[in-house]
Amino acid sequence: MSLNLHRMELPREVIVGNESLDLVSDVCGKLGFSKSALIITGPTTIGIAGQRVIDLLQDEGLAVNRHIVSSNIPTLRDVKHSEEKISKLRPQVVFGVGGGTKIDIAKLSSARQRVPFVSVPTTASHDGMASPFASIKGLDRPYSVKAQSPIAVIADTSIIINAPRRFIASGCGDVIAKLTSTLDWKLAHEKRKEYYARYTASLALMSAQHIVESAEIIKPGSAEGLRALLESLVSCGVAMCIGGTSKPCSGSEHLFSHALDLIAPKPALHGEQCGLGTIMMASLHGLEWETVRDTLRQVGAPTTAEDLGINAMHIVEALVKAGEIRPDRYTILNEKPLTRKSAYELAKMTGVI
Ligand SMILES: [Zn+2]
Repeated sequence: MSLNLHRMELPREVIVGNESLDLVSDVCGKLGFSKSALIITGPTTIGIAGQRVIDLLQDEGLAVNRHIVSSNIPTLRDVKHSEEKISKLRPQVVFGVGGGTKIDIAKLSSARQRVPFVSVPTTASHDGMASPFASIKGLDRPYSVKAQSPIAVIADTSIIINAPRRFIASGCGDVIAKLTSTLDWKLAHEKRKEYYARYTASLALMSAQHIVESAEIIKPGSAEGLRALLESLVSCGVAMCIGGTSKPCSGSEHLFSHALDLIAPKPALHGEQCGLGTIMMASLHGLEWETVRDTLRQVGAPTTAEDLGINAMHIVEALVKAGEIRPDRYTILNEKPLTRKSAYELAKMTGVI
């Protein structure tokens, strides 16, 4: 019998701002990490932020080790290597410093080794920086798995602002996806009696609306725009922490992106694909899909297959496959299953192909 217990694992410190990396030792001190840390980062991100984190912690007297991950796509092998390092060193805390890949590897390996994890993103390309989920290749499924919530998130805008614009546009795509993922979640609740929390759904939805309203200021070099995006990404992550599920943030538009990852010879960024998926799923949901498209356009995100660099036929194939990628997730694609013909028409009508 379920006792209706609901456990929420939330970050204790979230710092978004200019030069916030300087607060890294302060955060560690507050959380009681005064002895040792392991920094998981990449060959490029070590120069962007990793080494600074190491120096700052060493200045406070911590024994700091580093583990450099070279892959651009997080694999199970990377997770295992990181786990071996954690298991050998037994640090008090593991830092993930970098883009989505390094964060995901650090998050899952630390969770498996039961060591707390601090997230230090150097890009804003998707909502994983504050969420308890990680996307890893080589698992038995193409979508994310539960790892652990970061105990702290330190997002330094003065670092992230220098990342390529494409990453910021991708982050916007991952947030705007919540316009349809929250509707899919509600649908699953109504049709399948699945657990649904209105508060959590509202938090995710609010983030998407925040991006729609802030699209004008989200442009290269705009600290104000970047802050709006980071706050939205963190809120989405927190929504997943509160909900204990990725459902508020990942619906039919994410299934489309996962299908593209399997089908397209050269997939695009996660958030770019989700944004494109949101245009089409918004139409299926009867939302104003033009608003989604216009917002994406404004922030410089792809709105067509051509922008994405993916063949039109792969888009159609992914739309058809999306409905079968995750049988446990009920979405609008269960209500309105797509055939090749209707998928083609949907992509055509929304101008995606
Ligand atoms: Zn996502």
